[in-house]
Amino acid sequence: MFDVEKIRQEFPILGIQVNGKNLVYLDNAATTQKPKSVINSLVKYYETRNSNVHRGVHFLSDKATTEYENARSNIARYINAEKPHELIFVRGTTEAVNLAASSYGEIAVKAGDEVIVSYLEHHSNIVPWQLLCERKGASLKVIPVNDSGELDIEAYKKLLNGKTKIVAVNHISNSLGTINPVKEIIRLAHDAGAVVLIDGAQSVQHTKINVLDLDADFFAFSGHKMYGPTGIGVLYGKEKLLDSMPPYQGGGDMIQNVSFEKTTYNELPYKFEAGTPDISGAIVLSDAVDFILSAGIENIANHEHEILEYGTAKLREIDGFRLIGSAKKKASVISFLLDGIHPYDTGMILDKMGIAVRTGLHCTEPLMKRFGIPGTVRASIAMYNTKSELDLLVEGVKKAKKMLL
Ligand code: PLP
Repeated sequence: MFDVEKIRQEFPILGIQVNGKNLVYLDNAATTQKPKSVINSLVKYYETRNSNVHRGVHFLSDKATTEYENARSNIARYINAEKPHELIFVRGTTEAVNLAASSYGEIAVKAGDEVIVSYLEHHSNIVPWQLLCERKGASLKVIPVNDSGELDIEAYKKLLNGKTKIVAVNHISNSLGTINPVKEIIRLAHDAGAVVLIDGAQSVQHTKINVLDLDADFFAFSGHKMYGPTGIGVLYGKEKLLDSMPPYQGGGDMIQNVSFEKTTYNELPYKFEAGTPDISGAIVLSDAVDFILSAGIENIANHEHEILEYGTAKLREIDGFRLIGSAKKKASVISFLLDGIHPYDTGMILDKMGIAVRTGLHCTEPLMKRFGIPGTVRASIAMYNTKSELDLLVEGVKKAKKMLL
């Protein structure tokens, strides 16, 4: 059984006060809070196991290496990857997309080719592809969204053609919460001969991921949005693709032999992990995965959905409340505006009440332009949020309206 009060006790930060009020943390799409098991694991790593990996014969190095590789295997199981070495540890989703765009883009895209992204993308799943297109003389095509914030799949079908080499879309939109039909998007891209990167930054913590079932070629995510530490993330890639790609960065660990005449490269995944990796980050991310598994990903999804529906319905009762993004399939994000009030002002007043929300463009400037708005107020939900916290949000929004109008 999913017991939200018990879950909350695992997150020390949820007990703090902000501006004299109990913290209501609703900025989970930006980053989630960390449970004790994750925090303690980080301390334990530095107190008892700290060493560099893959380089030493001594006890600590062996232990750190084993745990680092065990973490890779555990996270691979979590997303149902076939082989652990299909997971490259990176700093986060941003670095994962940059790695794929630089390295796979290098061999796959040439002048005249096309790369498809969508209006719903975070800047980190736009700009790396734009840079690639500029370098190669290729063009960037964009899947439009309808007024509810859903991708226009018919328009997507028309964009696909023999020149399409890569399709890069998110699984769940960080700004609107739209759950995209990624399995269908991938199938259509494959039919057209294109390779697909799924930005899973907002899905790994909310829904079961099965990269094999999706048939995703690349899947990117960040540890800090899934109850893990900052500075660690994953690029999953199919072995065949990763094998065919040139290294992304040069340095220690990614090589087999180095001479001034010619360097040969290490096998997967090390070919893409130059230098000392975020060892503690990877190990602790695996603990975050265990934490999610112990709560149960389906329980989490059900709980968050209930909170989402509850909060949305209550907020909709407020005069002048405008929901931005009303897709039929949505997860854990309530993006909104109050008529006549700038989102930043609403956010400031909520902060005075101890309520943390995000305001602004959410790194999705083209999407905000598409809706003709200066940004939104975004409340984003995690497994530890409660209905009474959403009640406080509703109260806060009413107060902001009273003060600002
Ligand atoms: N993609 C999406 C959908 C996101 O929500 C974010 C972060 O908000 C990113 C990519 C970038 O993630 P990171 O900053 O952890 O690299």
